[in-house]
Parts: sequence; C-alpha cells; structure tokens
Amino acid sequence: MDELGEKTKKLYDDNAYATAFDAVITAVEKDRDEGCAWLTLDGTLFFPEEGGQSPDRGTINGLAVTDVQIKNDVIRHKVDMGCEPGGGEAVFSVGATVHGVIDWEYRYRNMQMHTGEHIFSGLVHSIFGYDNVGFHLSDRTATMDYNGKLTEQQLHELEERANRVITDNREVNTWYASEEELARMSYRSKKAIDGAVRLVEVDGVDLCACCAPHVRATGEVGCFKLIGWENYKGGVRVSYRCGFRAMEDYGERLALLTKLSQVLSVKTEDLCATVEKLQEERKRLAYELVAKDRAIVRTRIAELAAADGRARTEDGRINASCVLFLEPAEASILRYAVDELKARYAGVCCALLPAGGAAQGTAEDSGVAEVSTLRYLIEQDSGDVSVWQQMLRERFGAKGGGPKNSVQGSVTAEEQALKEALAALAD
Ligand SMILES: [Zn+2]
Repeated sequence: MDELGEKTKKLYDDNAYATAFDAVITAVEKDRDEGCAWLTLDGTLFFPEEGGQSPDRGTINGLAVTDVQIKNDVIRHKVDMGCEPGGGEAVFSVGATVHGVIDWEYRYRNMQMHTGEHIFSGLVHSIFGYDNVGFHLSDRTATMDYNGKLTEQQLHELEERANRVITDNREVNTWYASEEELARMSYRSKKAIDGAVRLVEVDGVDLCACCAPHVRATGEVGCFKLIGWENYKGGVRVSYRCGFRAMEDYGERLALLTKLSQVLSVKTEDLCATVEKLQEERKRLAYELVAKDRAIVRTRIAELAAADGRARTEDGRINASCVLFLEPAEASILRYAVDELKARYAGVCCALLPAGGAAQGTAEDSGVAEVSTLRYLIEQDSGDVSVWQQMLRERFGAKGGGPKNSVQGSVTAEEQALKEALAALAD
C-alpha cells in the first residue's frame, strides 16, 4: 500500500461543517468483483472509520461512497460503480479532479453524538477518575466503556450534569498541539499517539486527544439521553443518544408505546398494569385448561374401566394391560393419565400424546397413511416393561428409555400400525 502515496489532507479538521469539496485522485484500485473502486484523494471531507466511529457517507462524482478507511494517514474511499463488468475504467483516473459531497445529516448526528461522549467522559473522568476505554458509534449503536463501576444513581446524576453542560452552550475547540503544550497539559487519551496530537477541548469540562469532527458549541448537542448500562470488563458500558438521534429514538419508542396502547386499547400509562393483568389471566387460563384436560382424561379412563369386563385383582383393579391414545394437550397430562390408568389396571399402563409438531413424512414415503410423532410413557410399578420399549425401538425407531418399570420417549409412526402393535403386546 506504500504506493498509495502521500498523506491525505483531512479537510474536516479545518472545518467540520463543510459538506462539499474538490480533490485530485492520487490512486485508484478497481475491484471488478465488487463493482467498486477504492479512490485515494489528496484531500477529503470524508471522515474514515476510526476511533470506534463509523465512516461518513456521501458521493464522489455522484456515485455512492460506501466505506472510508484510513491507514498511515492515507484515506481511501470505496465508491460503488453501480457496475457493468469493467465499468469504472474510464470514470476515475489518477490526476483527475473529483467532486465529493458528504451526507450532512448522517455526519451532523455523529458530531452531536461524539461531542456528547466528550462531555460525559470528561465528567466521569473529573468526578470519578475513570477513563473511557472503549467507544462505538454507528447509526444503530452508541456505547462508551469506563474502567470503573458507576451506580444507577451516579449515572443519572452524570446525565443531568451533561445536560447542564449542553444548556450552558460552552465552546468546543480543536487544534493540533505543540510538544511544549502537550508536555504541560493534562489531557485524556484513549491510546498512545505518535505524530501530531489533535486536542479537543470542551470548555471547563474535557480535554482529550481526538481526530473526529465535533460541533462548535455544546448547545448543538441538543440533549444527552442515557439509554442503558451494563457491567462490562470490571467497569460499565453505557448506551446513550444525543441530539437528533435522541429525538429519533424518542420517536421510535413513542410509536411503539402508541401502537401497544392501540392494540391493548388502554392509555399508555396503564400499559404496564394491563400487561401484568394479561399475564396473570394467561396463567389462570393455562391452569384451568390443565384441570379440564385432566377431568376429561379421568372420566375417559373411568368409563373405559367400567366397561371392561375382565377379571379383577384383589385390590379391585383390572388384571390386564391398557393402552390409551390421548387428545392433544399440555405435556404433563401424560404422567397424569398413566397414574390414573395404574389406579385401575394392574397390568402395563401405556399412554401416548401427540407431540404437537407438524406431521412428519410425506404421502410419497408412507403411502396414504398419516405419520405422526407421539410422546409415550409406559409403566407397571412392580413389573418389567422393557419389552415394550424394545418393540417400539426395533419396529418404529422410537427414541427413549428408562428403568425397567418405567420407560418414556417419542415415536414417529403411522398411528394405526402403532395401535395394532401395542394392542398385541397388551393382550
Ligand atoms: Zn472526539
């Protein structure tokens, strides 16, 4: 990459508010596979991806700039050629002058967000002595990491103070500092810097080495809104929004609340109580449903036993085995059904419940027969039901197991064939 030439002049250093520029192409790398070209210019207003901040967007000669990267102070712009194969050959050539325009709305939001970070980090540093050790800023993410813990109350106090700094409308100044200046000043810095150091000062609040564009005065940050925080690497990670991004975030949240209150037909202030009530109602209904399912199973088994004329054991149970195919219900019904069966049948008690998944297999691989997946539980308290498990595994490929008097698992099979095979074992 050495042939990429001289350092790119950072036009945004001189004026963070300029939106259009002309520059001369110093290198072109074409990427035909991606239909793009990487352009190096002698100067640019495009801020590259750097210091955790996403790169500027915009156009060069009307073509979209989709990425901007910096290496050894050389800034490269990825330009979408919108390409036909081989396109871009003639569009860009070294020595030609191009016209660049940055997406100002995007940039200005980054400037607000970034300056907000300086205000908050300056306050954290001066009050608690913690450093900002991580920063991420894109259109969807905005986080700051500090190497010390902050409580919820401390974070809210910092938020309040940051907003006071914003309404104070303090000056924000940036300059390249001389070595003498750097030697006598105390400033925040995220990493060791070699070469010229650019300082950013928020009057009376922060002094930090930084390469990004900022707003001129804190009032332009608009507001600082704390969004969330979490413990992170022994310190804290803080999510936030400033200015227009805070307004947009507020808008999204308001729209969500409005939608929810329409769906639930309640005022937004009653949403929480309504959702809690719905949750309780849902729990109560689920409980009722289980009770009703159990009553149905209990009645069915009682009727089955009453109609069963076979011999009884001493304790009054039918001296035979029983297989019961259950209707779809909540999974705990399987245990309930087998316990009910065991109260009336002394032999092997087997219950099967539809697993609830979509039917497996197709007409093609199973003929016209319908294949379904069932959960099963087979028990005989002082008996041995392993032969049942063995039959299900060998004949139907069932998956499951358990001790010899209690096996459970699932089986995917054609129901009629399964019924006949289990009936044969029960007899
Ligand atoms: Zn900065």
